Amino acid sequence: MMKASFDIITIFPEIFKSYLGESILKRAIQKGLLDVKIHNLRDFSQDKHKTVDDYPYGGGPGMVMKIEPIYNAIQFIKSDGIGRFNVLLSPQGRIYNQRVAESFLSKNLRILLICGRYEGIDERVVEHLTDDEISVGDYILTGGELAALVIIDSITRLIPGVLGDDESVKEDSFTCGIFDYPHYTRPPEFKGIKVPDILLSGNHQEIKKWRKKEALKKTFIKRPDLINKEDLSLEDRKLLEEIILDIQR
Ligand code: SAM
Repeated sequence: MMKASFDIITIFPEIFKSYLGESILKRAIQKGLLDVKIHNLRDFSQDKHKTVDDYPYGGGPGMVMKIEPIYNAIQFIKSDGIGRFNVLLSPQGRIYNQRVAESFLSKNLRILLICGRYEGIDERVVEHLTDDEISVGDYILTGGELAALVIIDSITRLIPGVLGDDESVKEDSFTCGIFDYPHYTRPPEFKGIKVPDILLSGNHQEIKKWRKKEALKKTFIKRPDLINKEDLSLEDRKLLEEIILDIQR
């Protein structure tokens, strides 16, 4: 059985409880498809004030997360003898996307997510205690906790049995290289705006073709950088040519 397993090092363990306690992730945990262990970094600080940060050497604003508590936490977590893949959440890491999510899942590793706070983390953690550094985008968050949840959520929904219908993943944007097709539901007309006739026709072959064309069109218009013509089937290349002609008309 495929499953995803995570450890999280954070100074805000409560942040995770609400998100992991709802909906699909909650059910994945109940089904044994997702396992998340949250470790409070302060428990691994050896001074009486549970300090996890200190002033930066060389001066400058803000505080820096210390290496010792993080090292102690990693040592404790790994004392069960199970190997971990240490991932530091950082805006300076490689950019996370669907391919990275798939590769993490396929490696079948227990992933240890280290959440930074303050100005950042002592660089020795990056250099000596980290296997990978991941950014969820080119912007700065106040901490790594949201980024960790992004990673856990996106990997979990790839596990067979997590979603109500495993077909959903196959159609998702990015999974098959292009966006998902447009979705509609009842009513068939809202304030004069109609659902495309083809979807009400019952002709499944034509619906499939229409959906593929619309998915390609949306991707071509919104994110042309995602379309790699070499990866497209002959049929899809023809559809793309039709789309380009439609747009030029
Ligand atoms: N001074 C740091 C810099 O400019 O690179 C930013 C520190 S940020 C305020 C604090 C923590 O939030 C980081 O250590 C990291 O764990 C997390 N973080 C912020 N932005 C992130 C992003 N885009 N992706 C992943 N983690 C992020």
